[in-house]
Amino acid sequence: MDRSKLDGLMRPKSIAIVGASTDPTKIGYTVVKNIIEGGYEGKIYPINPKATELLGLKVYPTLMDVPDDIDAAVITVPAKLVISVVEDAGKKGVKGLIIITSGFAESGNRKLEQEVVAKAQEYGVRILGPNIVGTLSNAEKLNASFAPTLPLPGKGALISQSGALLISLDMATFTRKVGFEKLISIGNMSDIDFADLVEWLDEDESVSSISLYIEGFKDGRKFMDVAKKAKKPVIALKAGVSAHGAVAAASHTGSLAGAAKVYGAAFQQAGVVQATDLNNLFDLSLTLSLQPPMYGDNLVIITNGGGVGVLATDAAERFGLPLKFVPKDVQEELKKHMPEFGSAKNPVDLTGMAGYDWYYDTVKFVIAHAWTEGLVILYCETAMTDPMEIAKGIIVALDEANVHGKPVTISFVGGEKSEKAMQWLVEQNIPSFSAPDLAVHAISALREYARMKEIVSESDHQTIPVDKEQALRIIKLAREDGRDSLTEVEAKQVFAAYGLPTTTTLLAKSEDEAVKLAKEIGFPIVMKIVSPDILHKSDAGGVKVNIKDVTSCREAFKTIMANAKEYKADANIHGIAIQEMAPWGTEVILGSVNDATFGPTMMFGLGGIFVEILKDVTFRVAPVSKNSALRMIGEIRGAPILAGVRGEEPRDREMLAETISRYAQMIVDLQDDVSESDANPVLVYAEGKGLKVVDARIILKKK
Ligand code: ADP
Ligand code: MG
Repeated sequence: MDRSKLDGLMRPKSIAIVGASTDPTKIGYTVVKNIIEGGYEGKIYPINPKATELLGLKVYPTLMDVPDDIDAAVITVPAKLVISVVEDAGKKGVKGLIIITSGFAESGNRKLEQEVVAKAQEYGVRILGPNIVGTLSNAEKLNASFAPTLPLPGKGALISQSGALLISLDMATFTRKVGFEKLISIGNMSDIDFADLVEWLDEDESVSSISLYIEGFKDGRKFMDVAKKAKKPVIALKAGVSAHGAVAAASHTGSLAGAAKVYGAAFQQAGVVQATDLNNLFDLSLTLSLQPPMYGDNLVIITNGGGVGVLATDAAERFGLPLKFVPKDVQEELKKHMPEFGSAKNPVDLTGMAGYDWYYDTVKFVIAHAWTEGLVILYCETAMTDPMEIAKGIIVALDEANVHGKPVTISFVGGEKSEKAMQWLVEQNIPSFSAPDLAVHAISALREYARMKEIVSESDHQTIPVDKEQALRIIKLAREDGRDSLTEVEAKQVFAAYGLPTTTTLLAKSEDEAVKLAKEIGFPIVMKIVSPDILHKSDAGGVKVNIKDVTSCREAFKTIMANAKEYKADANIHGIAIQEMAPWGTEVILGSVNDATFGPTMMFGLGGIFVEILKDVTFRVAPVSKNSALRMIGEIRGAPILAGVRGEEPRDREMLAETISRYAQMIVDLQDDVSESDANPVLVYAEGKGLKVVDARIILKKK
């Protein structure tokens, strides 16, 4: 990426406001006023052909009339005039445009927006927006927006796809006491998108974390690539993940692959910390901008009260960091710094008598101890102790211990004094929260961040020998037949080309051929209807399992045909599939969707009621390495079933992971053709015994 253009846009030495107005009710007036009041130290050039002076500044008729260079221009003129301003800006050599004007793609005017972007590209000018509030930076003392004021200063950046939300959060920084260095409204993302800004902010010294409020990406892969490489923590709050309004899907996987699942998978794979709600977005922005990642699971909680200690302990388990007792030698040492009735195990309970000294002693010792990997300090306000004194004891202890790379979060529960003490703690770079579970949630995010980053550093790219040509040939034949789905027989051939173990499956066109093929394969066999018009075969009475002899084979042929005709009189029937009867195994489902935002995406879960009712499935944006596949297998709730429970042998997870990985490769290779697919069920056998795909479905993209 060429940084110079974004540098000009985000850190301009001079800024013009095209559409600057002398009418105080206009945005063009507000922006000029905000830039002045924010304390901007660069040059300000209001542009308006009908005015000469505004708020003490000389007004120029057009950009071309400004005698100096202009780095950035804020545009507030009506939509239809924007394109000519872009032309002027291009000729003038402006680096970036902050297009506040609305009335583009968001209200159906896609074409106008495209024209504006094309014009900007002609001159190499970058565009933020249109349809935005603007950008705000404390470091630049620049409020190039119509939001009322620069936010409370902090170390994080916040990029918001919603303008109204950005304005309200701007004001909320003061009441929540969580500051931001930058607030950026991204609007329609006609040019500059989340990925561009994350990439730029990652190199910007004034911010140390990057928070995003996202309604939807245009290019999910581009974002993932940038986020994976980011050195600073990226935190995302994705809105719009409920089922409401989701489109109906053709396959099981399609119906399960909602935005929550796919975005969640993508964030995890890219090392992006997910916020659960707006409050959490603030908490995480604060925490990740101030504290280092937590590199291990050894969390210590120090408290002066049993109640908050238990609440924090519960939260630790809930957020994936269950507490362990600290080692014996640590306990021995800690006992020296607390009364008889305290507890040195974890939580370390100093009791309500704890004042400056006990907090100081224990914090200093615990943070420096090699076993400790993260520390949560709790304090319940008491009548005998002073919150500010405790806060000071903590900060002096942390300063003297001078330990790096171990995060600390704090919660003081109490009144005004506690609030004040926490505000001061935040100023000392220690994230502090009004409830113990919030402090634990925050530190667990630092743990999660470290875990994800470790995984992100592994590559998901691999070379698996496959027969892509064969797969494409089968798809081509089906297309020539005028179809947009493959039959089970065809889908299994595609799977087989990717080395997925499928049951031998042959197509019989007549009863006699069925008998012949059954003998070839060997009884017992399974018989299934093969029709592009019958996707769910059991529903049509189209599946007969465990057929043991010729008589039953002939009978099954007749029954299945009759059932199919009854189910759908005009169904195009290719024949009946004769296949080997796979022995019983643990049923799992593999599936894929071609997500509109992230492209080929893989699903895995246990079959039967686990997928139907419990929806116990997990997703990855493909490709998926074997290691990632093993993690998928380990992260579903039903994982113990595959690991072997109650005397059952563990299932062949190695082979399953290999299969998932191959499947993922298949959907990447065939993404121009395959829209959804599943292998449902796959029967998984005991360790070393492999697995079998017994049913296969591939839906093609409409062409
Ligand atoms: P559909 O999902 O279209 O209804 P399936 O091919 O999945 O049809 O068959 C229904 C069920 O029959 C499967 O879930 C599985 O339990 C069983 N089954 C299908 N094929 C085989 C086979 N080759 N070996 C063993 N069991 C099978
Ligand atoms: Mg099935």
